[in-house]
Amino acid sequence: MGAPYGAGAEDTDIIGTEEMKAIVVNDYGGAETLSFADVPIPEPGDGEVLVKLAYAGVNFIDVYIRGGLYARSHTYAQTPPMVIGMEGAGEVAALGPGAGDLAEGDRVAYCLSLGSYAEYATVPAWKLVKVPHGVPLDIAAALQLQGSTAHYLTQSLFALGPGHWCLVHAGAGGVGQLVIQLAKARGATVIATVGSGEKAGIARARGADHVIDYRQDDFVAAVKEITGGKGVDVVYDSVGKDTFEGSLECLKPRGVLSNNGASSGAVTAIDPMDLAEAGSVYFTRPHLADYIADAKERNLRAGDLFRLWRQGRLTVTIDRALPLSDAAEAHRAIEGRLTKGKLLLRIR
Ligand code: NDP
Repeated sequence: MGAPYGAGAEDTDIIGTEEMKAIVVNDYGGAETLSFADVPIPEPGDGEVLVKLAYAGVNFIDVYIRGGLYARSHTYAQTPPMVIGMEGAGEVAALGPGAGDLAEGDRVAYCLSLGSYAEYATVPAWKLVKVPHGVPLDIAAALQLQGSTAHYLTQSLFALGPGHWCLVHAGAGGVGQLVIQLAKARGATVIATVGSGEKAGIARARGADHVIDYRQDDFVAAVKEITGGKGVDVVYDSVGKDTFEGSLECLKPRGVLSNNGASSGAVTAIDPMDLAEAGSVYFTRPHLADYIADAKERNLRAGDLFRLWRQGRLTVTIDRALPLSDAAEAHRAIEGRLTKGKLLLRIR
């Protein structure tokens, strides 16, 4: 298979075997369903690029896909058997027909294309962003999915600015730490919730003005006290089931509740009258895919994030980088609230 992929000499030993190591899900289920297996190296089709991965990002969306939460989603539906993983960074190993102006050896990163828990993945060329000189591939991987999410939440879903107040749940998490920093950079006042004293320190270090340990204290009462009863303009609620009702109570009249995650479980029902009673507030359940809908939007968000990181204005915390074979341990860590920042799988 080496010749069709046009791989460089260093790839020959892997491509020649026509197989690669990957993490496969054969049936929806828990972390135990992740199996480290040999599978065929995928071949890039029209408009696709074969990426030789250095790092895969581990994200909550991988947990949802593994467990079948998105089985009926038009945006993210995937059916086992599948190689999972929705984020990666590495080098272009080969180009399919019509894959654009990338070249073998280009350093690239991406998110929302399935199959990154593997040595190689085929990715639609339009989803790839070039990694600028000076940005290491672990940082590039870490900035794709969580970075683009924090970017759209603070800039597009609700365009934060001076005078705005926001509440960020799970503020020491991967998305949370980036939301805090981007919100502060835009001039907003940030209240963050976290699940431990150590995490409170992390959220403060990222710039949160106020931090609430929501496993110890009633976050609704705390937000009311901090804001003098006024509430916040926007709540970024990635926790979902456990926090959703309280989040509604934290809003100012005509505020925005973004239910952008389900770390504690999904919000499954909402009564429109509750939105009216909360002060004619707005509710949205966004998908990242709709905010990086084309190459231009992807590059705009990634470009901003790379620039801020290179300027030293954005801290990316890599919690840990585990070997690819330890994907199940990685899933247990993120589901068990044990991570404080980005979790990566190290592939080479
Ligand atoms: P995190 O690093 O934030 O990890 C999840 C955190 O959620 C935990 O560390 C924990 O923090 C908190 N949490 C609260 N309750 C629970 C619970 N019952 N089980 C597990 N965790 C809990 O993960 P990510 O940054 O990768 O993702 C954060 C969320 O954002 C996820 O829900 C993800 O699906 C969502 N997301 C949504 C996107 C979108 O466009 N809609 C895109 C990207 C991510 P603590 O201990 O401080 O409470």
